[in-house]
Amino acid sequence: MLNRRQQQCLKGIGITQWLTRSASRPASEAIQQPEVEVQEDIAIVEQKPPETPIIVSAPVKLDSWDDITQSIHQCQACELAGTCTQKVPGVGDREAGLMIIGEGPGHEEDLKGEPFVGRSGQLLDKMLIAIGIARSQVFITNIVKCRPPNNRDPHINEVKACEPFIQAQIKHIAPKVILAVGRISAHHLLNCTTPVGKLIDQVHHLPGSEIPLKVTYHPAYLLRNPSAKSIVWRDMKNLHKMLNG
Ligand code: SF4
Repeated sequence: MLNRRQQQCLKGIGITQWLTRSASRPASEAIQQPEVEVQEDIAIVEQKPPETPIIVSAPVKLDSWDDITQSIHQCQACELAGTCTQKVPGVGDREAGLMIIGEGPGHEEDLKGEPFVGRSGQLLDKMLIAIGIARSQVFITNIVKCRPPNNRDPHINEVKACEPFIQAQIKHIAPKVILAVGRISAHHLLNCTTPVGKLIDQVHHLPGSEIPLKVTYHPAYLLRNPSAKSIVWRDMKNLHKMLNG
């Protein structure tokens, strides 16, 4: 059995060492401090790299709206299923002309099970109201349906694992316009790496479809950079014209 220092060295270079609980501690400690040793077992499990292969536990059925929602709730296709509080499939009108797609649930969204709540959500609502649209008139969702830990960017394997859901939602809603909110959403939907500042104020199209796609800054960015609001306001007026044209 390796001593604690040797175990920490292996841990530091990313080598997972699987130990039985009985082998990982002296018998005397096992009786006195069982909870601490269990936590160390958990820490070793958490060293899986982001490239961990996608595991799909069951065939995904996406024929109807209920199929999509149920499949999201049952999904275990990436590691985020194990760290989120609950799945956040999306909210709003399933026949909406405008579909808003962000990057992933944050802390408050994870707790509430609804995308774009909290301060960012309130700002998004105000942006919509400014062009005469109520939140209930659009469909709002995210690229990934589970919260990434500590609000980190979703890893590429997580985005890819979740892609069938966003594609199925777009297909069923068939929106008149998609609004990609923030960098992750814009880059994934347009399959590009162009900065949001160069994508905004233009009309793009969802690759492989005729659906127009607009890009805007994430409300969280606007809260940190209020000077960008004027650009967004100008672009929201263009979005209004597209929806009513
Ligand atoms: Fe499934 Fe998407 Fe959640 Fe990953 S993020 S577990 S693919 S629903």
